[in-house]
Amino acid sequence: MKLVMKFGGSAVRDGDALRNAAGIVKEFHDEGHEITVVVSAMRGVTNSLQDCAKMAAEAGSADKVIESTSELRSKHHTAAEHAILDERQSLRLSRRIGDSARSDENCLDEALFTIANLVDQLERVLIGICHVGELTDRSLDYVMSFGERLSAPILSGSVRSLGVESCSVEGGDAGIITNDTYRNARPTEEAYELIPKRLGLILNKGFVPVVTGYIGVNEKGIITTLGRGGSDYTATILGAALKVDEIWLWKETDGIMSTNPDFVPEAQIIPEISYIEAMEMSFFGAEVLHPLAMEPAIRRGIPVRVRNFLKPEGEGTLITDVQSTVEGGVKGISLIDNVSLLNISGAAMVGTPGSAAHIFSALAEKNVNIMMISQGSSERNISMVVDQPHIEGAVEALETGFNGNTTRDITFRNDICVIAVVGSGMAGVPGVAGRVFSALGKNHVNVIMISQGSSECNISFVVSSEDAPRAVKLLHDEFVGKA
Ligand code: ASP
Ligand code: MG
Repeated sequence: MKLVMKFGGSAVRDGDALRNAAGIVKEFHDEGHEITVVVSAMRGVTNSLQDCAKMAAEAGSADKVIESTSELRSKHHTAAEHAILDERQSLRLSRRIGDSARSDENCLDEALFTIANLVDQLERVLIGICHVGELTDRSLDYVMSFGERLSAPILSGSVRSLGVESCSVEGGDAGIITNDTYRNARPTEEAYELIPKRLGLILNKGFVPVVTGYIGVNEKGIITTLGRGGSDYTATILGAALKVDEIWLWKETDGIMSTNPDFVPEAQIIPEISYIEAMEMSFFGAEVLHPLAMEPAIRRGIPVRVRNFLKPEGEGTLITDVQSTVEGGVKGISLIDNVSLLNISGAAMVGTPGSAAHIFSALAEKNVNIMMISQGSSERNISMVVDQPHIEGAVEALETGFNGNTTRDITFRNDICVIAVVGSGMAGVPGVAGRVFSALGKNHVNVIMISQGSSECNISFVVSSEDAPRAVKLLHDEFVGKA
């Protein structure tokens, strides 16, 4: 089979974990599969890069920069030492496993050299940021790209030290050309043509490319990132472009779960789920997948598997275009917090075409992402859910956007959560919404806002943060079972 395998989460915790990841690559490679690997940054590294960049811009302290870059240097250095067999070890190994392990070249030295170079580059950029005291999205992307650029050579070195030819490849070099939206870039059509050409050269030689997740370059060749958690997206972009048989996302969860096990211990693995359902689940807080990661897979109908790196024997969740149904139609219940409810009301909106357009374009201009919308047929009121960090910008945009027109009242609250009940089997089945809301009503959970798209694959509603965990548990009991 042709496979893309992405390693993230616990697989990039430390050097030993990366070594295990390399072992998995070797195992499937030796079985005859053609593998392209995607790796995310080592755990915590993307966050520290972000903090470092912000600190550099705000505090402007070169000493602090050097402190942080030294930490990163030693973290990756140690990881490489654990992940990559050195010459003596690999010589011993090559006697045991035949001649395939590399003894002619020191994979470790090469990785250490790359790490040293990259950290030097990073240090220079951060000191530059200290001097200018300003951080643009473009420079932030550049800084945040170092996590993957540091982990890929380690994993690739580790694979090589196990006797499998491999090289590390940066997203842009792999053909991931994106638009200019720094921090949230999207691949261009050109990328899908370029990737098979670029990676084909490596794959045809029998090498395993280890591609940096999360990053690409725009047409000018400047590094962009695909948004936090974007390595999944890299994997599916590559999978679609290479037309692989399956895309495997190795993570630290057993698969996509019926709900968050932190709230509901009875949460179960969903063995099969459709792209659409997986997308609905991940948009609504099941933090398993990058929300856009399904799009490239859908494009070419490529199955995606979410597997647990710590339990490779498990089957995980298989995501395909098949809409399998379950009794009751509901597969999962997810909860999203850190959101705010925004309410715009006023008689002036009744029967006034363009009110909604006005509101949405004012918000779009401020880059406010709207997660949920509801308008009653009286047209007096539009409610929306937006990410909490955007709420102030949203209110400001609306207040200025309406030029002080006071017939509209803008209010918001932050103490809310969205709950989404997901399952394509709900479509055309009467009574699902009834069951949802009567379970909540019977237990005195107040529902503040409701929205159901006409795909009928998701019923979402807003409850107070206080009621949210209980509401999720009630619905899980109702639909998935008490186990
Ligand atoms: N390293 C990036 C992040 O932490 C991408 C990823 O992990 O998928 O967001
Ligand atoms: Mg990460």
